[in-house]
Formats: sequence, structure tokens, C-alpha cells
Amino acid sequence: MAQAHTIATLGSHSALQILKGAKDEGFPTLLITLKNRLDFYLQFPFIDECLGIDDYAQFSSLETQLLQKNSILIPHGSFVAYLGMEGNKHLKVPYFGNKEVLDWEASRDLQLQWMQASSVNIPRIFIAGEPIDRPVIVKLFGAAGGEGYFVAHDQQEFDLKLTKFSGQKYIVQEYLVGVTMYPHFFYSPLTKSLELLSVDRRYETNADALGRISANIDPSFVVVGNIPLVIRESLLPEAFSMAKRIIAASQKLIDPQGLYGPFCLETIVTPDQKFHIMEISCRIVAGTNAFINGSPYSYLLYDQPMSTGRRIAREIKLAIKQNKLDLILN
Ligand code: AMP
Ligand code: AMP
Repeated sequence: MAQAHTIATLGSHSALQILKGAKDEGFPTLLITLKNRLDFYLQFPFIDECLGIDDYAQFSSLETQLLQKNSILIPHGSFVAYLGMEGNKHLKVPYFGNKEVLDWEASRDLQLQWMQASSVNIPRIFIAGEPIDRPVIVKLFGAAGGEGYFVAHDQQEFDLKLTKFSGQKYIVQEYLVGVTMYPHFFYSPLTKSLELLSVDRRYETNADALGRISANIDPSFVVVGNIPLVIRESLLPEAFSMAKRIIAASQKLIDPQGLYGPFCLETIVTPDQKFHIMEISCRIVAGTNAFINGSPYSYLLYDQPMSTGRRIAREIKLAIKQNKLDLILN
């Protein structure tokens, strides 16, 4: 009999959820983490094996061992952050998801092209030299987790603050006054179905603290937590439809199969009840950690605790059964 597949990931971001879900679906589990975190992760009974590394550069030296264990790597937010884009692309261990999507996630220009092809609302983009006639948010290319942004209310403030981004690539967007909503989806290339699994909003310092005092402080959007959310039911059909259009457009734009697996639409909802997409996250997002035991939405679909991590493991299980692993691994 063939050796069972081991589900493996890096110890950070959403690793606990991913490995708990894998264990619930019957897989052996393995974690690769920094040595100083071993103690923390070893306490969890659903992690069968932990491999310690001194730094992320050592990861590639473990690949032979991971291949021997018939491992499948589940990427999350720490993969690009710590292994780098090229490090991800060159992984030899089978990887859940389409690696072609990495370039589309990283480039603000490609994201824009993708969102425009999906007919979704996006914040107005200011081209170079265009007068700043309303509040804007300026984002460095490659910025993540809310770092590397600034807000300007008018041209003068924009010109003044831009000096700190000089020589770097950035994008200028209209600052939308609304609330953030981050719906989490899963698209199955096996059953060709789309599922809404949960929704969160981010907990951002110090943007989420400014309402507590009246002070003239620049907002910053560094994420330090996530808050579970249920959204007005009449907004759900549009959330679902946007995600469907994003998937359909990805299948035309991104070889060979477009986006599949878990993804998140980072949106702002304005008082006219319209979604505006700021970004597409093409993998499991950390906001799903609020739902390790399932969400109201995943309960409606599954009648049992179904996190995004467990949903990934279930997709792998189905692919093994149907002998279609090549459809979901890279
Ligand atoms: P960490 O796992 O904290 O080392 O972070 C790895 C990457 O994931 C970084 O780029 C973080 O900005 C991002 N990240 C971690 N947690 C969150 C979160 N709750 N929401 C959004 N991004 C996150
Ligand atoms: P992002 O990395 O694009 O998800 O943005 C991080 C955070 O910045 C979001 O969660 C929002 O709070 C804020 N933000 C980003 N873009 C906009 C925008 N166009 N208008 C208002 N707030 C924004």
C-alpha cells in the first residue's frame, strides 16, 4: 500500500488551524518551525511531528526529508513573507494551490487587471501627477499586513508625506469611508463549486484605536488580530457573486487553472451598501483562525465544524480518492 500523505506547514500564521483540520480528516501532520517555538507547538496533540530550524533559510535542507514522508505543503501568509517569492516557486515538495497565482497576488498592476476583468467595484486609482482632490491612501508595492501605507487628506499633505516613499513604487487610492469586511471563500476545482466559509474584520493598530480619543494622529493599519463577523444577509448574494466573478476571470487570465482553494476578498463596504475590493488574498488568510471550530456559514454548508484548514484537507482527501491530486498540487 502507498505511504499515507503527510500534511505539513510552517509554524506561524494559521498553522494550528491547518494541522487540526488535517488531523480531523485523518492525515498524519508535520510542522516546521523555528527552534524557539517548538515548546509552544509541541503541546498540541494533533501535531504528530515538529522539525526545528534556526532560521527560514534552512527550510530547503529539509525538503528531502519531507519528500520521503510523502508530504503535501499547505502555504499560508508566512510562506512568501519568510521563504520569498522565488523560494516558494522552487519548492520541490508538492504544494497545495496554483503557484502561477503568486505573481498575480504580489503585483498591484496585475491585481488591478484581474479585478477590472471581474467587474467588481474598486477604489478610484489616481495616476501619477493627478491632483489629489479628496482623501487618499498611499500603498507601497509589496506592502503587507497594513504596513507601508499612509493617508493624506489633500495635495499638500500628500506631497509632504510622499517624500518618505521616494524612489519606491506605490499606488494612490481614494480613501473610502466605510467598514472593512473580509469574506473567506473556498473554490473546489474537483467539484467546481464555490463556498463562503466565514467572514472577519481586521483589528488594526492604531486605526481601530483612534475613535477612542480625539487626537490628530496619523492612522496606521498594522494588523494584530481579527474579529469574527456575520454580515447583513441581503449582502451575502453579492459577496458570493463577486467571488464567482473573481474565479471566472482568474480562469481566463491565470494558467493553467486560475485561482482555487481558499481565498479572501478584502473589501470596504460604504453606506450605500456597496462592496469595494481593495485586494484579493489568494490563500488561507489569518482571519479564518477565528473559526477553527467552524463559522455560522460553514455550519450551514456542512452541519459539522468546518474550518478553512479542514476544508483544504477534505479537498486533498477527495483528490486522493478520485486519483486527481495533480489537479490541486503544484
Ligand atoms: P506571522 O505569521 O505573524 O509571522 O506573519 C506572516 C505574514 O502574514 C506577515 O506578512 C503578516 O503581515 C501576515 N499576517 C499574519 N497574521 C495576519 C493577520 N491576522 N491578518 C493579516 N495578515 C497577517
Ligand atoms: P490592505 O493591505 O489593502 O488589505 O489594507 C490594509 C488596511 O488599510 C485595510 O484593512 C483598511 O483598513 C485600510 N485600507 C486599505 N485601502 C483602503 C481604502 N482604499 N480606503 C480606506 N481604507 C483602506
